[in-house]
Amino acid sequence: MTALVWFRNDLRTLDHLALSAACKDHETVRAVYFLCPQQLDEHGIAPIRRHFLRRALDELTRQLSSLGIALDIINAQHFSKTPSHLADYCRDHGIDSVFAHREWLLDEINRDESCSALLSELDIPLTLFDDSLLSPLTIAKGDGEPYKVFTPFSRRCRDYLAAEFPRVIRRPAAKSALTSASKTPCQPFGDEKDASKWPVEEDDVLRQLRQFCAERAGSYKDDRDFPALPGTSRLSAALALGLITPRQCLACLQQECGEEIWDAKSGAGTWFNELLWREFYRHVAYHFPRVVKGQAFQTYTDAIRWSNDQALFDAWCNGQTGYPIVDAAMRQLKETGWMHNRLRMITASFLSKDLQIDWRWGERHFLENLIDADFASNNGGWQWAASTGTDAAPYFRIFNPTTQGQRFDADGQFILRYVPELKSLQGKHLHMPPTTLGYPSPIVDHSERRNITLALFQELRD
Ligand SMILES: Cc1cc2nc3c(=O)[nH]c(=O)nc-3n(C[C@H](O)[C@H](O)[C@H](O)COP(=O)(O)OP(=O)(O)OC[C@H]3O[C@@H](n4cnc5c(N)ncnc54)[C@H](O)[C@@H]3O)c2cc1C
Repeated sequence: MTALVWFRNDLRTLDHLALSAACKDHETVRAVYFLCPQQLDEHGIAPIRRHFLRRALDELTRQLSSLGIALDIINAQHFSKTPSHLADYCRDHGIDSVFAHREWLLDEINRDESCSALLSELDIPLTLFDDSLLSPLTIAKGDGEPYKVFTPFSRRCRDYLAAEFPRVIRRPAAKSALTSASKTPCQPFGDEKDASKWPVEEDDVLRQLRQFCAERAGSYKDDRDFPALPGTSRLSAALALGLITPRQCLACLQQECGEEIWDAKSGAGTWFNELLWREFYRHVAYHFPRVVKGQAFQTYTDAIRWSNDQALFDAWCNGQTGYPIVDAAMRQLKETGWMHNRLRMITASFLSKDLQIDWRWGERHFLENLIDADFASNNGGWQWAASTGTDAAPYFRIFNPTTQGQRFDADGQFILRYVPELKSLQGKHLHMPPTTLGYPSPIVDHSERRNITLALFQELRD
């Protein structure tokens, strides 16, 4: 009896329901990961994310081998070919059951249905476990309908979690019947950019979590909007590949901050809320699959006539808009593969509301550059900022990029890290630089563009 654990975005051995279930009843356990390089290319996955993935798979190989489990990394080329690769693998290795975590996006759901059908011809069950903090199938409104607004969703989640606090599953014991990898690990990850600043080793990631919960969660509410401060956890990359789980985050938060986590106005409670935003966007992507197909949640906004000016888009991508906070943010993304949340909101608002460029262009650019790219959170964040989404910022709330800079980076500490051209300036001049420094003048006039955007939305609503 040999079980197979199919790893996806859950590259860890602690708090792994599928792995624990496989180990419980089987003497011999194998593990597989299907690498889909064509998919990485089609989705334009960032070079830094590819390196992060490679390192995470190396770490997983190490963790699994200490449990006596071999990880085979199979080059499946394309996502659509994974069902046949899986069936071949099961035949070749005498697998009698397959365990994995459920994924909630449409393509993944369809893929799992194909796998299940193919495996059932071989008499092999595919058992899928729910790896979310709160399954999109569990949380529903009183009338059974899915939530469309975050605040009531989060309230319902808190009630649910207060009654049934999630358990972190222990790592399974090492197997006595060891397996060995059948193939040499394949290497087609494409272009890579050094991600070694982002920890993948379990001890390091857990230390990062503990440190955040013990030292910074308490002041999270006050600090989280200021990009010059180390006010947020920077755990998004680890969460995106499943190196840790939101359950582990919540358990650690409770251990360090106690009952404070239930107070949504406290620092710890605010961080808890951010973990729930992540669940919310999964809930939305599952229940309203049109957002996964490139459509707006608010369907009327699909008729907006975006200007889609390529030169303006290029200036935004390259941090050359003439708005210091926007440019510092876009350069942070380009240089580090990560961007602070406040800056994601400012730059997304600027692209859609000031440049009138389709939010899908920005969504794609973020996916192509972020180390923590996550389809549901990215789509949700973009649709929020562009006022096309569920809990959309109302269309008339348009961030002023100058006052946002003045408010969240008053002394320019963050801006100067990425826009050194402005180092001779101080105070308010830094947010409205003169044109003499080799730094571009604003590519658009904010108040003019604001009026155009208001008219674009208004026209559709009348
Ligand atoms: C336009 C836009 C695009 C975004 N794209 C992504 C993306 O591709 N991947 C991604 O993980 N997050 C995305 N976010 C959400 C958020 O910006 C990042 O999760 C956060 O900046 C990561 O930093 P952190 O780990 O320090 O977060 P913390 O503030 O420490 O938050 C802890 C965790 O909660 C989750 N989280 C926090 N804020 C949000 C949020 N608004 N929505 C969903 N989850 C959240 C993340 O998993 C994060 O790691 C996006 C937001 C916007 C506005």
